[in-house]
Amino acid sequence: MPQYDYDLIVIGAGSGGVRAARLASKSGAKVAIIEQVQVGGTCVLRGCVPKKFLVYASEYSQAFRDAKGFGWTVDWARFDWPTLRDTVQTEVNRLSGIYIKNLDAAGVRIIEDRAVLTDAHTIRLTREGRYLSAERILVATGGHTYRPEETPGQELGITSTDAFLLDELPASIVIAGGGFIALEFANIFANLGVETTIVYRGERLLRGFDHDVRMHVQADYERSGVKVICGSTISEIAALSGNRKLVTLSNTMRLEADQVMWAVGRTPNTHGLGLEAAGVKLSERGAVIVDEYSRSSTPSIWAVGDVTDRINLTPVAIREAVAFVETEFHQRPTKFEHKDVASAVFSSPPVGAVGLSEQDARMKGHKLKIFRTVFRPMKNILAGNEQRVMMKLVVDAKTDCVLGVHIAGVDAPEMIQLAAIAVKAGLTKAQWDMTCAVHPTAAEELVLMGEPVSHDNEAPA
Ligand code: NDP
Repeated sequence: MPQYDYDLIVIGAGSGGVRAARLASKSGAKVAIIEQVQVGGTCVLRGCVPKKFLVYASEYSQAFRDAKGFGWTVDWARFDWPTLRDTVQTEVNRLSGIYIKNLDAAGVRIIEDRAVLTDAHTIRLTREGRYLSAERILVATGGHTYRPEETPGQELGITSTDAFLLDELPASIVIAGGGFIALEFANIFANLGVETTIVYRGERLLRGFDHDVRMHVQADYERSGVKVICGSTISEIAALSGNRKLVTLSNTMRLEADQVMWAVGRTPNTHGLGLEAAGVKLSERGAVIVDEYSRSSTPSIWAVGDVTDRINLTPVAIREAVAFVETEFHQRPTKFEHKDVASAVFSSPPVGAVGLSEQDARMKGHKLKIFRTVFRPMKNILAGNEQRVMMKLVVDAKTDCVLGVHIAGVDAPEMIQLAAIAVKAGLTKAQWDMTCAVHPTAAEELVLMGEPVSHDNEAPA
């Protein structure tokens, strides 16, 4: 048997890598984790966590406006970006410290360096120049924000990574993209008082989500003053005086703004990792191709999280990591099922979705009953706030099984976590209806949608 330095080397100390390293080490394995930037990864340092703090901060502006309808006078409110930016950075650094403590406590060796694979069991540390070997290697290097390198002046734009560290809040911003990051940052900036424009290449924002969610969200962005330009991309950015930028669109429109932000997707971090030397196959997008146990084409190398470009969400990376450790260190073969994974977009209104959209269910051949309600939540009535909630259940007409739940409205991310239990359990609409409402809430509408808004004939077409 060959002797290795470690039983497991994990490359990348983000959500997936840290969980795998800790659990494998606790099983008795000798484990090292290698991180080139800072322990914590995208979620903790430049993604979900700091983003959610910015969302919380941005929600105060609406809360102050709403408060007037409840008798409050709040005309003293002032916002200070450096205070928010710095408190958020302090908190994410604290969380990074907790990750380090947890790794130490689990007996994992933390190595701050850049790892490059030289073969199926060997890694070179590029800063130290040392080589390390391991029986198993887990690639958990995540992804990075994509920039269209071919666009003239693209370097004048920022990405979400830069947005957390801005010296000052711009007076105006143009955001390219119509997905998670574009909508979340448009919400944050607009609510912090920044004049915000979204430029999206498609016809409707949030591709991949149910069409009613997409329509509801887009209409509300426009209602609340965010300018949404669809069917167009940024073809050039040019510098003007005083940090202003001139943005030319593919439809020949020209916009001026203080900042331009690229939110046009993320790319797996595999470039220069030496994966080819180790025989690891990559997809066209550069993601590590893995099987359902997260094993790559090289038997000693696995990959979890965004670097595999399956479902790029933190809880998914963690589940993939847990399944890997169960399989490889506890001899309990475990696959994470990438189905009915709920997701939330912290847009305004926020979105929560789980299961099949109406269009995906139809494409899979289901005959459907569609339940939908749109209403103004109680709080918004006194507040004079026009934002509404849209809820939709996609139900199989034959089996009555709830295939999908789609919510766009206040607290949708909180609601969808619970709805996901019912969808994952395969409950029927009749079972949802047996559940008594909690009153007065917005969530109660989920069990009060009596009549379908449309009902397909169950007979095959
Ligand atoms: P998304 O895939 O959500 O959105 C990318 C957007 O950029 C899409 O609107 C896409 O258009 C557009 N786009 C892609 N390439 C180009 C191009 N060359 N020119 C113009 N537009 C382009 O990616 P994000 O970067 O917003 O987020 C990355 C991933 O991170 C998400 O998919 C999600 O998995 C995760 N994430 C999750 C969050 C959460 O859980 N709340 C928050 C943030 C990120 P089109 O629709 O036409 O493809």
